[in-house]
Amino acid sequence: MAKKSIQMPRIGAHMSIAGGVSNALERGKILGCETIQIFLRNNNQWQGKAMRKEETRRYKSMQKKYGIYPVVGHAIYLVNLASSYDENRNKSIQAIENDLIMCEKLGIAYLVLHAGSHLGSGIDEGIRQLASALNILTQVTSRVQILIETTSGEGSQIGYDFQQLEKILNLTHEKVGICFDTCHVFAAGYRLNTEQGFHIMVNEIKKTIGFKSIKVIHANDSKRECGSHVDRHQHIGKGHIGIEGFKLLLNFPPFRSLPFILETPKETNNDGIDMDLINMALLKSVIT
Ligand code: ZN
Ligand code: MN
Ligand code: MN
Repeated sequence: MAKKSIQMPRIGAHMSIAGGVSNALERGKILGCETIQIFLRNNNQWQGKAMRKEETRRYKSMQKKYGIYPVVGHAIYLVNLASSYDENRNKSIQAIENDLIMCEKLGIAYLVLHAGSHLGSGIDEGIRQLASALNILTQVTSRVQILIETTSGEGSQIGYDFQQLEKILNLTHEKVGICFDTCHVFAAGYRLNTEQGFHIMVNEIKKTIGFKSIKVIHANDSKRECGSHVDRHQHIGKGHIGIEGFKLLLNFPPFRSLPFILETPKETNNDGIDMDLINMALLKSVIT
């Protein structure tokens, strides 16, 4: 009989910070999350509120007590570093700078950013813009690593294949990592739910960004088909990726040590059970 691997992926979900960042830990604890992701501010506002000292303290002691790690920060959806339009770009840099400082105060090691959209200037120019912004932002703090999230390639998004992501990493002076979103990668055209498609993807990652650059997995099934370039998250096993795809992902050795964080719709099933609970149980059930 094969010995059970010691490394197990940590499973969790994105949690709301309504009422304060420590509430996200409380919510995660109740659901049994081993890891969580949070926004550092209201997701549709450019201006975040300064955090009170006692809230920072409460967050830190709670995080230790509950043993929820890693906690991953996610930048607001309004930011776009890949466009050439100065106004949005400057606002984005400012917002991410603030988020990085907030992460540093809370002891959060990763901040996830979307690669962004070039809005007509082309993929190469988008990559250049993003990399130059990253070279400013990586100077803010050495204690928080920026992770660029893979995209589905919707609209003029950049970063939907591993070659583009490799170019971004190569253009940044300081170390930047990758957040791998299963729904986005699948919608971008990687058939990761079949043995063959998974193998093709693995080889491409090996030749480009390498597995060491991937620090966080966003575990989402996809409402839309492979190659659709449409980003619509679905509950685990209920979308086009299906449970077989997650079985491949969760048991793939380079991913065993990574956090798998749900960003699936927040709702309850017909029996009133929180879907996060069901999705987390499903992910755990396929780990062998
Ligand atoms: Zn994201
Ligand atoms: Mn995601
Ligand atoms: Mn998404």
